[in-house]
Amino acid sequence: MANFVLMEYGTGAIMAVPAHDERDFEFAGKYDLPIRVVIQPIEGPPSSEQQEAFLEYGQVIASGEFSGLSSQEAQQKMAEHAQTSNFGEKSVSYRLKDWGISRQRYWGTPIPMLPCKACGVVPVPEKDLPVMLPRLDRIELGQSPLATIPEFLNSTCPKCGGEA
Ligand SMILES: [Zn+2]
Repeated sequence: MANFVLMEYGTGAIMAVPAHDERDFEFAGKYDLPIRVVIQPIEGPPSSEQQEAFLEYGQVIASGEFSGLSSQEAQQKMAEHAQTSNFGEKSVSYRLKDWGISRQRYWGTPIPMLPCKACGVVPVPEKDLPVMLPRLDRIELGQSPLATIPEFLNSTCPKCGGEA
């Protein structure tokens, strides 16, 4: 059970590590769940006395044969263990974030595309960039200001010359 879901995690097993994840720490604290510390800072006070999740690398504790290793070493050894025991394998995953598409301007997405009924979504030709926004006399809340400006709204498809 959790009080939040990250869409990009998809399906599969999801772990919760309250001692070493900020959101899990908060969740465990709120619902009075036990917090098992498995990484200890190399220096400084033990993380069992922590007031927040310990997110750094450190020394692994309370983790069976992996106790005493550095967390970096433990990651390697755990992955090897999974591989030799035939229940998992090492993999590197990347999360490539697309351009930051910001909607903070009335413009909407900063990628100029023209929707055409015949051609689909067609990029504005490079020679027409940058697309300049129309000047607005006033902005009314509750609707896109661009929706009220026909000159901006109605364009021509660069591919077929039709309405876009
Ligand atoms: Zn077209």
